[in-house]
Amino acid sequence: MESLLTFEEAQARILAAAHVLPAEQTPIGAAAGRVLAEDVRAVVDLPPFPSSAMDGYAVRAADLPGNLRIAGESAAGTPFAGTLGPGEAVAISTGAVVPDGADAVAAVEIVVKTANAIEVDRALDVGASVRRPGGDVRAGDVVAIAGSRLGAAGIAGLAAAGIPSVSCARRPRVTVIATGSELVRPGEPLAPGQIYEANTVMLAAALGVVGAEVEIAPSVADDEGSLRAALERGLEADVLVTSGGVSVGEHDLVREVERELGVKESFWRVAIKPGKPLAFGTRGKTIVFGLPGNPVSALVGAELFVKPALRALQGATEALPRFEPGRVGADVHGNVERDEFIRARARIGADATVLDPLRGQESHMIATASTADALVHVPRGNAAITAGSVVSWLRLNAP
Ligand code: AMP
Ligand code: MG
Repeated sequence: MESLLTFEEAQARILAAAHVLPAEQTPIGAAAGRVLAEDVRAVVDLPPFPSSAMDGYAVRAADLPGNLRIAGESAAGTPFAGTLGPGEAVAISTGAVVPDGADAVAAVEIVVKTANAIEVDRALDVGASVRRPGGDVRAGDVVAIAGSRLGAAGIAGLAAAGIPSVSCARRPRVTVIATGSELVRPGEPLAPGQIYEANTVMLAAALGVVGAEVEIAPSVADDEGSLRAALERGLEADVLVTSGGVSVGEHDLVREVERELGVKESFWRVAIKPGKPLAFGTRGKTIVFGLPGNPVSALVGAELFVKPALRALQGATEALPRFEPGRVGADVHGNVERDEFIRARARIGADATVLDPLRGQESHMIATASTADALVHVPRGNAAITAGSVVSWLRLNAP
């Protein structure tokens, strides 16, 4: 019996081969989805000054309850010029500076206002409704960690802490090439024996989600000359991803031509279903994936192997796919020798996400798989898993 590499071993080899790309300074407005190359520290205390949490009146807590004379106003961006004296209040808006001398804010809701005075009928604690300087973060504190991927909240945190741009690994440049003499672009008529080419657009969509700059090269026929020319160009990218031509057929020439072009193959074939005949290698700093041609196999290969490589190239601390627990909604059949990744739809159940396997699990059935948003992992050695059992599953299209 053949002994195939497990997908975990394959992933480990891929991550070991993916060296982080050089960093570039990136304006925060363009940094969504990018991975930080270094820790980022706040430039200022946040808030930078004692700031009101409410619309109301800045007061001295010791004066309350009582009647206070309105001595002026502190509006957002326009602080009160003086110091608050005993028996005085300053009208204040949310986010405005709490004046010197004041130590609490009486919310407008608890105040009775007359022409130029207020009455507060209750006591307030020192610090009530006052946001303390540095209460969110202090100048010099780390606000974003190297290796983390920036999302909306992360970017807002950077902006609030005074950071205009950050250092991020540059985006990996990926060239995607479909191989196969039968492939035709949608929109053109099909001659006998031809099919529409689906993998390059799928891979561009899948890999773009993790920050890659994807170039789709023209599809290539299964002949050595055309393949050599196309692959030679593709090897100029950071990552070359081909589909098709890596199986055991007579016209499966991709690995051989790549070998001639100097690609050192690290492995070929992984103990998974679908997607077994996957090839991985390197040439210099270029990472080379040969995905199988069946679109579902290529999709699974992209999720399990190519996307982790792209995350690692950008220095992401969490490069591997994030599997979550859930329950299968129907019986699923596994495989003794290979890990299976079953296309499913995720729905919210009473106590867990429920994964409903799609009918039609063959690796050429991309139209059936097109409604899937999840892969259910059935570990090798499991002949069957019964409905309701807890499984690990992976959300498709995750960044
Ligand atoms: P291969 O890996 O080249 O043996 O291809 C396996 C199967 O996938 C064959 O049925 C091919 O016709 C099909 N196939 C290969 N490449 C593509 C593609 N880019 N789009 C759609 N189907 C493909
Ligand atoms: Mg082929």
